Amino acid sequence: MDFNIALLRGDGIGPEIVDSAVVILEKTAVRFGHRFVFTPYLIGGCAIDATGKPLPQETVDGCLASDSVLLGAVGGPKWDDQPGDNRPEKALLGIRSALGLYTNLRPAKLYPALRAASPLKDGIVGEGFDLMIVRELTGGIYFGERGYRQGRFGEEAFDTEAYSVTEIERIGRVAFDTAMKRSRRLCSIDKANVLESSRLWRKTMHALAEEYPEVEYRDMFVDNAAMQLVRDPRQFDVIVTSNMFGDILSDEASQITGSIGMLASASLGASTRGMYEPIHGSAPDIAGQDRANPIATILSGAMMLRYSFGLAEEADCIEAAVDSVLNAGYRTADLMGAEEGAPLSCSEMTQKIAEAL
Ligand code: NAD
Repeated sequence: MDFNIALLRGDGIGPEIVDSAVVILEKTAVRFGHRFVFTPYLIGGCAIDATGKPLPQETVDGCLASDSVLLGAVGGPKWDDQPGDNRPEKALLGIRSALGLYTNLRPAKLYPALRAASPLKDGIVGEGFDLMIVRELTGGIYFGERGYRQGRFGEEAFDTEAYSVTEIERIGRVAFDTAMKRSRRLCSIDKANVLESSRLWRKTMHALAEEYPEVEYRDMFVDNAAMQLVRDPRQFDVIVTSNMFGDILSDEASQITGSIGMLASASLGASTRGMYEPIHGSAPDIAGQDRANPIATILSGAMMLRYSFGLAEEADCIEAAVDSVLNAGYRTADLMGAEEGAPLSCSEMTQKIAEAL
């Protein structure tokens, strides 16, 4: 099959890791008889340099015309002085909203081969864990009414958390469907003991749960969830939560895997077009040195095949190649201690994974 993929390499290590993922996707295409056509567009700091804007219209149009989007990362010290609405990171909110991406899927998996990298004790992580956070991406407090006003103590700033039944049902269905494809366990996280918006969230999730009797459903308050993630991460399989809680909990979940360079993500909307990106940033401290770990971006490419193109076998194949390279002991610098020998470069790791495919 033919697919058009928009490539948003971005800044810092973005170009290196996206090019690694392209090598793996191309090899996968050859092996399975597909054709992937890659078209690059500017985003972030490099787009500011070239056009004055972090998200040029040409990029939005190109992404809208593609079957899916692969993004590296944006930002870096060079653009830190840009005004708030012209910062490279602003382009991320812009492209997500232009593509109508209301779901963020973030797997957090601790590979048995990388157990030592987790800050959690062996007794807690056991043979590793594998959970999926489903985060609402275009609603809630990050998009609610905001501003300044006179309050009880003088001028104050405010942000508003608001969720409609429609938005909650939409993300809830993605979460229940995701749970059905995994171990059929779903935990919804809210703050219903305090927030009205969370009470509506919980009520709507309970109504949905009636439609999915095979899914073992439960609720948890967000403060407890933050604690449970480090106390016993293996109790979770699929987690669904709001934009802000998901932002915070998914970073916590990534830290307990111990390896920011390993974690992929998918942002999805109503169509099959999604945007796939590693969860880490542009790592300006190692940019251009061929030292970045490309695995998060390669696994993001695998998620694209699975969720946007329906190519599950091809995605399994990429994930298995990553597993086998890790099991064989190959590591990039971020995955090993200084005393553990010479790490692989970004391009060497890519080569190993390509060979293992
Ligand atoms: P970062 O994730 O870029 O880096 C944090 C640390 O992790 C650094 O030491 C970095 O070298 C290391 N690291 C990250 N990815 C790695 C990889 N693949 N391989 C090896 N090491 C890796 O976070 P930061 O330093 O807080 O942010 C740097 C820039 O990235 C900022 O401008 C920030 O705004 C931006 N950022 C962008 C995104 C995005 O594009 N989605 C996300 C987060 C941060």
